[in-house]
Formats: sequence, structure tokens, C-alpha cells
Amino acid sequence: MRLSYALKGKRVWVAGHRGMVGAALTRRLAREDCEILGAGRDELDLRDQAAVKAWTRDRKPHAVFVAAAKVGGILANRDHPADFLYDNLMIEANVIHASHELGVEKLLFLGSSCIYPKHAAQPMRETDLLGGPLEPTNEPYAVAKIAGVKLAQAYRRQYGDDFISAMPTNLYGPGDNFDLVGSHVLPALIRKAHDAKLAQRDSIEVWGTGTPRREFLHVDDLADACVLLMQRLSADEHVNVGSGQELSIRALSELIARVVGFRGAIVFDPAKPDGAPRKRLETSKLDALGWSPAIGLERGIAQTYEWYCRNYDLVRL
Ligand code: GDP
Repeated sequence: MRLSYALKGKRVWVAGHRGMVGAALTRRLAREDCEILGAGRDELDLRDQAAVKAWTRDRKPHAVFVAAAKVGGILANRDHPADFLYDNLMIEANVIHASHELGVEKLLFLGSSCIYPKHAAQPMRETDLLGGPLEPTNEPYAVAKIAGVKLAQAYRRQYGDDFISAMPTNLYGPGDNFDLVGSHVLPALIRKAHDAKLAQRDSIEVWGTGTPRREFLHVDDLADACVLLMQRLSADEHVNVGSGQELSIRALSELIARVVGFRGAIVFDPAKPDGAPRKRLETSKLDALGWSPAIGLERGIAQTYEWYCRNYDLVRL
């Protein structure tokens, strides 16, 4: 494989290394013979510009993965728009600017498929960015992520920094947030199905109509794709990272119920928001690099459920 950027022997900062994505990147980077740097929230507040500058000057990373973000599901986004916009703008501006000032060799910024217009043609291509209005339920988060993509691009254009962006589809995996209100659909349904099974309840409640479709990518697959992009991609435009594994929320609920062993009814609550009808990513740019995901959805859910059971006390705090 031709590498344009070798990670071997480099100091690699995974900003957000304790989050689901950052932890997956840390696991994956352990195979790359590099030194992994990370700072927990207690040590470094990424929203604090002076602190981020001081930390980067002190630790001098060669390469940076911007995996830190305030993330949450559809209701968390709806109810905390200021936090989603402010925290994400500050985190990405501080990390990208400090990396520029330090002369970091390579940086990968992580966005999200919600940056695309609500009614973009499916599957969504990289060029669909800014082609129409956003899905209102997560507009603040999307606006912040669009700003991050544009910021990385602007430093490349103005200063020649080798900063790139990856746009993952809906993610799931070990280390996810299983909170019933703040989480995304997949971990929320694992928890609901598991709790209902243990309590021998005869139904679980699923938000919305069940008709929206979502594509799911295991976070270990994302981490693998990000490492490949770090090594092989130097480009102005961001790159989609999808899985092709798309299904309706109804089908997802049934799959999760089967994996968890919950045999009761699945009841939809149409008073809760559906959000975007669909957001599948078109991945020919990534396909051209020879990458494809390795973890099928059913296996990925089973493995995530296992993780949930092993960490049951921790995730329910
Ligand atoms: P989104 O992809 O940004 O819309 O994020 P979510 O993962 O929060 O929601 C995806 C879809 O799953 C939406 O249509 C939700 O209404 C639906 N959904 C169904 N049940 C749940 C649940 O318990 N939690 C969450 N977060 N979403 C749910």
C-alpha cells in the first residue's frame, strides 16, 4: 500500500480519546507503532483556547485526530442547541488553530452525515454539502460541523496545512452513550430491550414512526477508515465514510430485539420527532482507496450488546 503519510514513530494526538470514536481510534492506532497522546476532560478543556494552545505547545503532536465533540441523539440536540453549537465550534476552532500554529504535519477532522441537506438525493455525495436547508432537529450540531470542515479546508487553502476531513454515517459500538434521553437510537434501543427483557415487560417504546432509514457503521470500522485516510488522503474535499448497511428504524428495532432476546411488542410513539427521512452516504471516493467495512450490523450489535452487559454498572451511572 502506498502511504503518503507514515504514522510510525509519530506523536499522534487523539483529541477526545475517551469518547466512543476517540477510544476506537486509540485501539486502532496501537497497531501503528506511534506514540498516542490524549488529555481527559479533567486535564484539558478543549473549549479553552489558551489551555489548548499551551497543551499542544507542551506535547507537540505531529498528527492530530479531531474526535472530540459534544454529541447526542435527536432529543438532546433539540433541547440543547446552544451547547451543541458553542461547544463544538470552540473545540474544533481551538484544536485546528492550535495545530496550525504548532505546524502539525497532518490533521483529520471528523464531521457527521447530518451536515448534508435534509432533502439531499440519496445516497448523499460529498458535493451535496450546502446544497439546501438542514434537518432542523440537529441544525446547531450540523452548522458547527460544517464550520469545522470549512475551517480545516481554509487552513489548507490559505496556509498549505495538510488538514483533511472525514464524514461518518451514524456510528455505534462499545463506549457509546446508553442514556435513555440523550443517546442515539441504537444504544437507546439496546438498553430499552435489555431492561424490558430483565423486567419481563411486554413492550418497548420506540420514538417516531419507525419509517426513517439510517445507515450504521461500527466505530472500529470508522477508526480503521480514519487511519487509512490519515495515511493516504491529502485533499481539499472531505470524504464520506459509510457502511451501506441501511435499514428503517422499525427493522432496526426488530433486529435489536432479536439480538437482545426481547420477545415483546415494539410500540412506536409518533409524538416524538422522526428527524431526517434518510441519510445514506455515497462512498465512491473511499471505495477508490480500496477500503470497505469489516463488521456486519448484526455482529456489531451483538458485540456492542455484550459490551453493554459487561459494563452495565458503568454505563447506567
Ligand atoms: P439522528 O440520526 O440524528 O436522527 O439521531 P438518533 O439516533 O437520535 O435518531 C434516529 C432515529 O431513531 C430518529 O427517527 C428517532 O426518532 C428514532 N428513535 C427511535 N427510538 C429512539 C430512541 O429511543 N432514542 C433515539 N435517540 N432515537 C430514537
